[in-house]
Amino acid sequence: MKIAVLKEGAAGESRVSATPETVKKFIGLGAELAVEKGAGEGASISDADYEAAGARTGDRAATLKEADIILGIQGPDPESLGGAKPGAWIVAGLNPFGDRARIDAYAARGHEALAMEFMPRITRAQSMDILSSQSNLAGYKAVLLAAAEYGRAFPMMMTAAGTVSAARAFIMGVGVAGLQAIATARRLGAQVSATDVRSATREQIMSLGAKPIFVEKVAGIEGEGSGGYATEMSEEYQKAQAELVSSHIAKQDIVITTALIPGRAAPRLISDAQIATMRAGSVIVDLAAESGGNVEGAVSGETVIKHGVKIIGAKNMAGTLAADASALFSRNLFNFLSAFWDKEAGKPVLDEEIGNAIRLTQGGKVVNPRLLG
Ligand code: NAD
Repeated sequence: MKIAVLKEGAAGESRVSATPETVKKFIGLGAELAVEKGAGEGASISDADYEAAGARTGDRAATLKEADIILGIQGPDPESLGGAKPGAWIVAGLNPFGDRARIDAYAARGHEALAMEFMPRITRAQSMDILSSQSNLAGYKAVLLAAAEYGRAFPMMMTAAGTVSAARAFIMGVGVAGLQAIATARRLGAQVSATDVRSATREQIMSLGAKPIFVEKVAGIEGEGSGGYATEMSEEYQKAQAELVSSHIAKQDIVITTALIPGRAAPRLISDAQIATMRAGSVIVDLAAESGGNVEGAVSGETVIKHGVKIIGAKNMAGTLAADASALFSRNLFNFLSAFWDKEAGKPVLDEEIGNAIRLTQGGKVVNPRLLG
């Protein structure tokens, strides 16, 4: 059983899908590890570090040769997989809804593509969940980015020259990223409020010492929602939410938006007219910018200024913390593959629940029901 770790090909991707720690652990299971030269550079891991952990390093062709499992952060370009065995698994974040052509190409090449972001949200799969591990870091970094771009301070300060008032931060979408954003903004001394469509988040917001701001006129999603995920809200709800945001946002200095709906474009939560009511110098970080954006005018990977407000269209936020993001992502991959490791077969054998959820392609075809829909 040979596992290949590729150097990421996407522009700006600095993470890597295995670390010396997980290399050692895979070898402990009996696997042979091949790491493409330079794969760890962006995460401050040298080829020598991988070699010391027991991996062989080489060019892409040598790395792919005879590999049974190909690991990645993002899915590798199918064109770059020449020489890989047709039946080899590709295990990575494959952006199944956004990168359909690539998934079709994996099928055509005979690969079994396993999308880590389709991991079911069940207790035993928590340690395999790349969305949680990366969102947590993204939520943290979004607040730091906002603080760095904000021309004022976060905490209240009483100085001989007068008082500096605390920043008011509003977090929209209280999933994994939002919870970490609340905690980080609080640690920096901001006054924090937060909102979500799922009623279960109200208590979570309060437990972190922030103020819940909820639509009261129209019912949101009871409890956690299905698998912790939100769905698209009714027009009536959206209208009530827009009114709520209008009444709240003008008083906010920092807004972090994190709202996502699986398989759909991110919901639009802030309009240009609402931005115009904010104080000049305020900062908005749109963590959903890559999925269509929660904020009107946000551009993924860019900072734009509208009505004096800086709108940061976050792109691959977790990747800006490449070392930690790689360590956590790599552990997610190891936790997944090792949980299914069949000692006799010397390879992972997936069960139905998880296999069927994450398998996108098999036997030359796209097989996942969420893609066949
Ligand atoms: P997500 O990234 O899909 O969405 C982020 C947040 O945006 C969610 O809280 C969602 O409710 C919210 N949102 C969506 N539409 C909105 C709108 N119109 N207005 C305001 N908010 C909106 O979610 P996530 O961070 O991946 O996680 C959500 C939940 O799932 C959390 O409660 C988390 O604890 C749970 N979870 C469970 C497991 C597990 O059990 N294995 C794993 C991961 C997450």
